[in-house]
Amino acid sequence: MLMYMSKKPDQRISDKLTNGIPLFSVEFFPPKNEEGARQILRTALKVKEQIDPDFVSITYGAGGSTRERTQEYAELIRLIYNFDVMPHLTCVGHSRDELRHTLDRFYETGFRNIMTLRGDAPKGDATFKPHPDGFQYASELVEFIKTNYPQFCLGVAGYPENHPESKDTPFDIRWLKHKVDRGGDFITTQLFFNNADYYAFVKRTREAGITVPIVAGIMPVVSSSQLRRFCTMCGSTIPSELDALLYSAGESESAVIQVGIDWAYRQVVELVENGVSGIHLYLLNRSHSAIELIRKLRYNHIIG
Ligand SMILES: Cc1cc2nc3c(=O)[nH]c(=O)nc-3n(C[C@H](O)[C@H](O)[C@H](O)COP(=O)(O)OP(=O)(O)OC[C@H]3O[C@@H](n4cnc5c(N)ncnc54)[C@H](O)[C@@H]3O)c2cc1C
Repeated sequence: MLMYMSKKPDQRISDKLTNGIPLFSVEFFPPKNEEGARQILRTALKVKEQIDPDFVSITYGAGGSTRERTQEYAELIRLIYNFDVMPHLTCVGHSRDELRHTLDRFYETGFRNIMTLRGDAPKGDATFKPHPDGFQYASELVEFIKTNYPQFCLGVAGYPENHPESKDTPFDIRWLKHKVDRGGDFITTQLFFNNADYYAFVKRTREAGITVPIVAGIMPVVSSSQLRRFCTMCGSTIPSELDALLYSAGESESAVIQVGIDWAYRQVVELVENGVSGIHLYLLNRSHSAIELIRKLRYNHIIG
């Protein structure tokens, strides 16, 4: 079926980021089973019809799993829904040859943007161990891609509350700068719920001489337990005010979702007012919150 569809190569995100209007993008993760496959396609359709973001991204399975699915679903949603799609790529378990093979395929099928990451150690491994012919840090993958595939625009990860393995903030910024200097074209942040953390991060990066755009990663909360799990994993803080609102929402799923939309709305309004380059919504393959959030932002003329 895909043979009959075509789409011109995607636009580089760094070019889209130059017009001074904040970009809106959303993130999917590749499905693990048939129900997940139906869900991502349903969500992608609704997102296309009701939000039509500037681009979408699709994650690379944690610990290196679902690798083929990232490629498969990145291609599918790109062709079916005509999105510009940024696949994520990690160093986990990959030799240079394998990475070259994946990058060749991405290039041939029209992708022009890659979210370039180290990835986390597979479950059960205490620390990240590189493949013997692979890379230890995202910056090495960034350099590899920039040298061999200069046509790709590369996103890299940034951490307003520091990466959990960073011993302190100067360490975190030092290696972020190194990664950007190797060829990162823009930064997308880890999710955060307190805009002050984002502003302080932007200030630190600018003082360190990092000049690339910094896209804010925002997650409308849909479940209190899931939020706590994520924040434990990635080191993001849940502000006490948000915590109290979620506590008041109790077991009601719809009330929790509404708290998530309202909190994200307040965050985005303030970020846009403060000149953010882009907002990347962590969707968790569910469309409702993102659609409600964007509707409200458009209705109130916060975004176009
Ligand atoms: C926007 C975003 C998207 C993500 N998408 C995915 C995904 O799709 N799949 C997935 O599995 N994970 C994803 N992650 C999680 C990410 O893989 C983890 O946070 C991982 O632990 C670090 O990846 P990194 O690319 O930031 O690594 P790096 O930039 O390599 O940094 C990792 C750690 O090493 C330190 N460091 C870097 N360079 C050096 C050096 N030369 N010497 C000493 N220390 C150094 C850094 O300070 C940091 O503490 C994402 C994270 C973000 C923020």
